[in-house]
Amino acid sequence: TCDRQDVPHSIMNLIDGFKASKTLFTAAKLKVFDLLNSSNGLTLEEVASQINASVFGTERLLDAAVSLGLLEKVKQQDVYRNTEEARRFLVSDSPLSLHGYILHCNDMVWPLFSHLESAVREGTSQHERAFGKMNKDMFQDVYYSQDDIKMRFMKAMHSIVKVTGKDVAMAFDLSSFKTACDIGGCTGAMAYELTEVHPGLLVTVFDLPRVIEMRRHFQSRAHTDRVTFVAGDFFKDDLPQADLYILARILHDWSDEKVHVLLNKVSQVCTPGCGLLVSEILLDEERRRPSRALFQALSMTEGKQRSAGEYSDLLEKHGFATQDIKYTNNLLDAMLFIKEDSNDKRT
Ligand code: SAM
Repeated sequence: TCDRQDVPHSIMNLIDGFKASKTLFTAAKLKVFDLLNSSNGLTLEEVASQINASVFGTERLLDAAVSLGLLEKVKQQDVYRNTEEARRFLVSDSPLSLHGYILHCNDMVWPLFSHLESAVREGTSQHERAFGKMNKDMFQDVYYSQDDIKMRFMKAMHSIVKVTGKDVAMAFDLSSFKTACDIGGCTGAMAYELTEVHPGLLVTVFDLPRVIEMRRHFQSRAHTDRVTFVAGDFFKDDLPQADLYILARILHDWSDEKVHVLLNKVSQVCTPGCGLLVSEILLDEERRRPSRALFQALSMTEGKQRSAGEYSDLLEKHGFATQDIKYTNNLLDAMLFIKEDSNDKRT
């Protein structure tokens, strides 16, 4: 096939991108991937009846999912099956499942993006327009306002860590640290990954009381005795003592001003030689890529995406020297900082 310059394929793919996303979201929400996983293939009629949907609508959905490589259609038996990728990442109880994150994208991010024009005009997130709520603090006023929304958000965070946590935990040699505190550590997923990869490391998960109270729903059987949970507000309360602090997907949620408040608190509790591991999607220095980070910024409230250089600048103001940067080629990158000896640079 020749590369036809007169056909705008990549633009057409962008135009259709939202249809592809919504096909995936809807199949996940209707539990199509779970259903197909428990059998060796189901006919259209069987799927339709088990997801309680029309045969016409189900056929359109399944065929669209086949075209996206999420399902396969086995002609001889006239059945649909999960592809290998769907089995690994879309079935809700698979170890690397993205199901929680997909539901968050469907129920929370999609409505926000339907107001993108307003977000651009007004320079603010559209939580109020989409959900009719004030959002002074996105977590306390939106995500944690209702138990079902809170669980959905926590499952979304948990599922991303399942996919990325091991790479982040293995990004650096952390053997000199004995205790760690995962600030905003949510379900403890990262803490369990860290204890798995670093024998002997004790990890404290620090998060808001409304999050910590749900910890049992996400408890891992691995190294449970080495992970403890402490409830508190990282802008107001004392942080637990540790010789390594983790800020995984925390800093991008906040303005430079709020980041300075938080980093000041971390810096105060750190002694020289303490580590600080930051895990985020790192933009390149020209802020051109990755698109994933720039898309995510479109629905942010007060946060922003930053490059490694920008994180280094922020952290240096609080006495942290950049030790190492790791582009993992997974969904999140990582940076390791070490608290310097002098207090001169503290703001
Ligand atoms: N670190 C986790 C991860 O990588 O999956 C969760 C990241 S999530 C984007 C942000 C986390 O920060 C949530 O668990 C949230 O509850 C927590 N958080 C937000 N505001 C907080 C505050 N003021 N004090 C403590 N934790 C807070």
